[in-house]
Amino acid sequence: MQLTDLNWPAMASLSKDTPVVFPVAALEQHGRHLPLFTDSLLLGEIVRRAAEKLAERVVFAPLLWLGNSDHHLDFPGTLSAPPRAYLDLLGGLLENFIQHGFKRLVFLNGHGGNEVPGKQVVFEVRQRHRQGKDLLLLFATYWQLGGKPHETEPSLHQKEMGHACEWETSMILRLAPNLVGDLKHAKPVEFGNAFAPASRGWITKDRTEPGHIGSPHLATAEKGEALFRVFTEDVVSLLERVIHWDGISWNG
Ligand SMILES: [Zn+2]
Repeated sequence: MQLTDLNWPAMASLSKDTPVVFPVAALEQHGRHLPLFTDSLLLGEIVRRAAEKLAERVVFAPLLWLGNSDHHLDFPGTLSAPPRAYLDLLGGLLENFIQHGFKRLVFLNGHGGNEVPGKQVVFEVRQRHRQGKDLLLLFATYWQLGGKPHETEPSLHQKEMGHACEWETSMILRLAPNLVGDLKHAKPVEFGNAFAPASRGWITKDRTEPGHIGSPHLATAEKGEALFRVFTEDVVSLLERVIHWDGISWNG
């Protein structure tokens, strides 16, 4: 179900155990060859495919395209919600739906920069509603749900998500090839090792001149379809777990 298509009596009549999903993405630079709206386009497609499979069992809010992208602000066109404003914005969405009586609230994320604030928000809101044992607040990033695309599609060179990389470029090639620029000159940019496993504060210019990280020149639409399938399956199986949660247990 799409929240945008329902009226309030329809919302009022839904079981309050119906999961509500808030897709969150970004509008930010994606190298010289991909559109600024890449993260939102990709997550939108995964949500579209997942919503078809889940039908009436889940409510999807419209995708929130403004994300936390401060690290990309050296590149023209990037829009970013300041991190603290973003925390309040996401927290407000959860509070709205808690007030409406819903208990299974999921952020489905399509942008790396949203991870830290998104996890902080579900943590903080749970602290504010300490009595809410039946409250399930989740933050999930679609490429981190366990799928290993390079195992299903051995032609994939990258084994992890980069930025405007083989993976993202392949999916945009599948979805909107007219929006993909020149790949021949998109030279690979290594992921590198920035003091791992420590987490280093960074801005994008520390790592890449063109704005991408990874190997966009290896992208194909066929790889893009394989990636969409893996990620959609992962999202559907996570949401199935949310649907089947018993409403009280720690495990799910
Ligand atoms: Zn991206």
